[in-house]
Amino acid sequence: MKECPFCQIVAGKAPARKVYEDEHTTAFLDLYPISRGHCLVITKKHIPWFTDIEPGSGLGGPFLKTVYGVARKIKNALNCKYVTLLMRGTRVPHLHMLLIPSIEGEENLLDKTLGYHHFCQTRLKPQFTEAELDAVAEKIRNAPV
Ligand SMILES: [Zn+2]
Repeated sequence: MKECPFCQIVAGKAPARKVYEDEHTTAFLDLYPISRGHCLVITKKHIPWFTDIEPGSGLGGPFLKTVYGVARKIKNALNCKYVTLLMRGTRVPHLHMLLIPSIEGEENLLDKTLGYHHFCQTRLKPQFTEAELDAVAEKIRNAPV
């Protein structure tokens, strides 16, 4: 099996333009940026998904602290309007958060994509009944952490 590319970066076996690093996390420019300053924050430990962080492991807090800190660094360095956080991980199943700055006057493909998402939410929204919405809220509220 091919080695995880993010684990290779952590191990120093693959190059990365690192912007931050501490005991639990590292952040670097995305190899395929969709805007200037597009960064990834990862855990140094290989954890496939955000929901795989074990409660009480002590990793969730440091991960989100780094996400917050790097987002602030990006905002201050590039004087951007805002930084979008996005987490999915289907291409590289090693926990990572995408931090995508939106800079005035610069094209940002994510903004265009999310504009379409907003259109779909407001104009083509799925039709759930009030009872269905109540049921799903109740189901999530009562689910274990
Ligand atoms: Zn990995």
